[in-house]
Amino acid sequence: MEVAPGIRRITLPLPTGPRHVHCYLADGTLFDTGLGLGDTDWSALGIERIAITHMHPDHVGGAAAAAAATGATVHQGALDYAQCERVWGSADWPERMAAWFRWNGVPARVSDELIVQGHAFAPFISYAPGPECLAEGDELDGWHVVELPGHADGHLGFLRDGVLVGGDHLLAEISPAVGLYPESRPDPLGDYLASLERTIELAPRLVLPGHGDPIHDAATRARELIEHHEHRLDATAAALSAAPQTGFEISLALFGEELAPTERRFAVAETLSHLERLVAAGRAERHEDGRGLAYTDF
Ligand SMILES: [Zn+2]
Repeated sequence: MEVAPGIRRITLPLPTGPRHVHCYLADGTLFDTGLGLGDTDWSALGIERIAITHMHPDHVGGAAAAAAATGATVHQGALDYAQCERVWGSADWPERMAAWFRWNGVPARVSDELIVQGHAFAPFISYAPGPECLAEGDELDGWHVVELPGHADGHLGFLRDGVLVGGDHLLAEISPAVGLYPESRPDPLGDYLASLERTIELAPRLVLPGHGDPIHDAATRARELIEHHEHRLDATAAALSAAPQTGFEISLALFGEELAPTERRFAVAETLSHLERLVAAGRAERHEDGRGLAYTDF
């Protein structure tokens, strides 16, 4: 399907979440590769290079297969690739992540399940090893590389003639997840809010997102998301008190008590990104003792 002159959208199924992910093909450049679970035939599309917006499984998981089928070079952000290797290529990543969640108050029955799921899932994520690394200011076949951290630390956008291939930075129907994770940048929500301001300045006339419909008024959508997070920050601040609470405990107040382990993982990560933004803004305090991290109001 042609979504802009010379740009085709290729939509692949996902087993969970939004149930689909979009890849885009412009001239010989393929942006993102899907989860890689299906048997997509990439060979007949004239793909010369592959650009990855970010290392989440539904964007990078099919990169090795797409590269092998086409002989294309793969291009990915340097920080994004480092995190991609760490998360999908380290045998002990699920344990490291679970230990960090426990440090934030997540009970063992939840974190143990995350370890099991992490080990079951990782072997299916076939990212392309040793890509050409991209950074802000680079150009790829006429596309300007723009760093848009927040949804992922190393998230890239690609801008050409007012069209931004935006990955999951800006979505029309859903608020992109912005979570804090271990061994990552310290204030992802601060990063994300700055990237939204940057989007307003860049004022692309069309954003092609990883999920959902194209966005024609990026500035309005960016302002909506800024406002959304201001409300979420206020709700997070309101859940704090003088008594220390863990990120897990505050996630119960914000997201409810009845969540499956995978959903709880996202809820705690999202809660922590808001708590760390509040700490950076002087609206909350972080406390650490021998048992873990907790937060109070300021
Ligand atoms: Zn994503």
